[in-house]
Amino acid sequence: MVEAENQIDPKPVDSSEVLRSIDAAIDENADWLLQWHRAIICRAEPDQRVVSEYAQYLSRFGSWMDLNKGRGLLDQSAFRELSRTHEDMHQFGRFLALKSAEGKSIPTVEYDAFAEKVQQFNGQARRIREAFRKALSELDPLTGLNNRQIMMPVLERERARAIRTGTPCCVVLADIDHFKSVNDTHGHATGDFVLRTVAGRFLGTLRPYDEIFRYGGEEFLIVLPGVEKEAASEIVERLRLSLAEVSVSLPDDTQLPLTASFGICPMQDDTALKQTIEHADRALYAAKSDGRNRLVFWSPGIEL
Ligand code: GH3
Ligand code: MG
Ligand code: MG
Repeated sequence: MVEAENQIDPKPVDSSEVLRSIDAAIDENADWLLQWHRAIICRAEPDQRVVSEYAQYLSRFGSWMDLNKGRGLLDQSAFRELSRTHEDMHQFGRFLALKSAEGKSIPTVEYDAFAEKVQQFNGQARRIREAFRKALSELDPLTGLNNRQIMMPVLERERARAIRTGTPCCVVLADIDHFKSVNDTHGHATGDFVLRTVAGRFLGTLRPYDEIFRYGGEEFLIVLPGVEKEAASEIVERLRLSLAEVSVSLPDDTQLPLTASFGICPMQDDTALKQTIEHADRALYAAKSDGRNRLVFWSPGIEL
């Protein structure tokens, strides 16, 4: 047993923070716009959020973006665009509010251009929000892997591709061995940590075009497109060793030896997906009965 030298950071991607912030930004922007109109229409003393040179940073969204702009998830062109639109909108709003405060009137064309910026910001924010909402509904919050909800459409797509192109495809079910005792001995929070670590190991071991889903509590379903029995057994053996050969470093530095068992079933043109998954499950059951920490292929003889 080798100890892990470099632990993968098992912390999941926090898309929900992005979703919350974008949601709040849309509400906050509506409120800011009311302040802006109040300043212009009533010629009231303008709020600093409207006329400050740093108005965009006085909004919670602006300061959140500024604080996190280097973070991976926000380092994408959609967020950079949104941030630019937010800044333009605030600067334009400030310019018009100051003009009005000086007693000058605002030409229609300038107001229309400002209104367009506001709509542009709302449109971009809503698009990002929808993209994250969709992604989140497909992700398991604990491991960051795809969840069961998105699994069947992906499996159907892979099955259709395999039939169309005449290529093989294998379905694998993986189940951590004696996981209950991890919870019983170290507590549920450590159990969660171990699940995230295992998900990270599997994800790091698979090929880029393989798909992995959190199938249930401590079970994972994996699709291996383009491989027959022999290549599948090599890939799954790598998955097995990614656990069996490297113990998990718990947060208190305890080394936890861990193994998993695997059931494999190749897809067949004349076998429904549901049945292929059932067959992989039977094979997994056989791997457990045979002593765990191993992989077993389904064969008709396995039928119980
Ligand atoms: P086997 O080798 O036969 O698979 O034994 P096992 O202990 O892994 O299997 P069993 O089905 O008896 O127990 C699975 C355990 O996984 C029980 C449940 O408490 C735990 N579990 C399921 N989901 C989660 C989770 O999200 N977090 C944690 N910490 N534990 C979970
Ligand atoms: Mg299980
Ligand atoms: Mg188990």
